Amino acid sequence: MTLRIYNTLSKKKEEFIPIEEGKVKIYVCGVTPYNHPHIGNARPFITWDVIHRYFEKLGYEVTHIQNFTDVDDKIINAANREGVSWDTIANRYILAYFEVMDQLNIRRVNVYPRVSEHMQEIIDMVSGLVKKGFAYEVDGDVYYSVQDFPAYGRLSGRELEDMQAGARVDIDDRKRHPMDFALWKSAKPGEPAWESPWGPGRPGWHIECSAMSLKYLGNSFDFHGGGSDLIFPHHENEIAQSEAYTGKDQFVHYWLHNGFITVNEEKMSKSLGNFFLVNDILAHYRPETLRYFIIATHYRSPLDFSDERLEEAERSLERLKTANDNLTYLATLPTGTKDSEEANNLRAAVDQAKIDFYDAMDDDFNTALAVSVLFGLAKEINTYHSGVLLGKASHSSSAVQAAQGMFKELLDILGLDLTAKQSDHVQDGAIVSELMDIIIGIRQDARQSKNWTTADRIRDDLNSIGIQLEDTPHGVRWKHK
Ligand SMILES: [Zn+2]
Repeated sequence: MTLRIYNTLSKKKEEFIPIEEGKVKIYVCGVTPYNHPHIGNARPFITWDVIHRYFEKLGYEVTHIQNFTDVDDKIINAANREGVSWDTIANRYILAYFEVMDQLNIRRVNVYPRVSEHMQEIIDMVSGLVKKGFAYEVDGDVYYSVQDFPAYGRLSGRELEDMQAGARVDIDDRKRHPMDFALWKSAKPGEPAWESPWGPGRPGWHIECSAMSLKYLGNSFDFHGGGSDLIFPHHENEIAQSEAYTGKDQFVHYWLHNGFITVNEEKMSKSLGNFFLVNDILAHYRPETLRYFIIATHYRSPLDFSDERLEEAERSLERLKTANDNLTYLATLPTGTKDSEEANNLRAAVDQAKIDFYDAMDDDFNTALAVSVLFGLAKEINTYHSGVLLGKASHSSSAVQAAQGMFKELLDILGLDLTAKQSDHVQDGAIVSELMDIIIGIRQDARQSKNWTTADRIRDDLNSIGIQLEDTPHGVRWKHK
């Protein structure tokens, strides 16, 4: 089967043809490091980690780039709140990003470019767009002129006239069209600023991904990914900027977007209080459980997150572990060579699993189907295992080795490590969880005996190390700030 991929641009599945034989080039929009990563962040990065692993397995050389938006209003606001510099915030949460993603077994990509380290490339691109007549300056701000790019709206399937009609009445008469967006913003007092031909300022959000993908991947590359919320305006604007600047069509050949995440079937949002940080989940679940949970749904489908579903994921993963342990046990048995019908059945199941798994992955990276193939194989392994234990099947080392090799090969593509011992971090997480229950209990006792000094001290001291207590109908809960 050939690899077919759903392209947001054409809105259909297309056969994958690399731009350069044997090579795959990927750009994925990264995070704005102003907070700890939440589950919405984890989904695209796990998805792309699996896609990267699969291409490597198929023999491609993969170049994979993912940026950090380290110059942004949210970072500046967080810095002002804490009274520290913007780069203190950015560096802190870039480290937090890696800590979490490493635990989820997400391998590092080739380059993590940061906006603050690519100002020259960004300024060059904005200047080029002004020179070519796709952008204009107004009092130190530079805007992209969407009317001058006829293909604007192609990715998101919107017409410029409809967007104009739908746009809120924009009284910003400095813009030629309400949909024109900022490439460069003049400096406001107290904000970080860089020198530019239009005076001191900083880039708009969209230009960074155009400038950095151009630098690391060239005028045209194979894949661009991110969450569906980035299709418009972010990715639409990237196409407009990049293709206008290079004068070449097809800045990106395949656009891939992850589906939304809901929590208990509600939209995830800070205001609804159902906004989960990966750290908080990892205090209760193993990292491979969260990884499995995300992979077990196809990347384009919506994903509903709840405790019940995570517990279900944990049980499913346990079933795969049992099959893996059974293989490990069978491999310790004295070498047997006599083939039996059961051993031949196992061999046939291994061969079929390989075909089915790769077919599933070739169908738009259908990891949900690929996972079900693993369960089918696990069932065959368990049947064979009990056959050997009951003396019904003779032990065949070669069949067991074939099954072991295939099970590992397929799990590796998904990045699931069933042999991983609970990391120190997870053990620490469990201990922290229990210690917090003890501390919260002491504080409750203090409050009951009206010892407000102790109760307040516990709350304030926890607060100072970034832990916030919350009263809920189910008692006091704690979370990372
Ligand atoms: Zn981006």
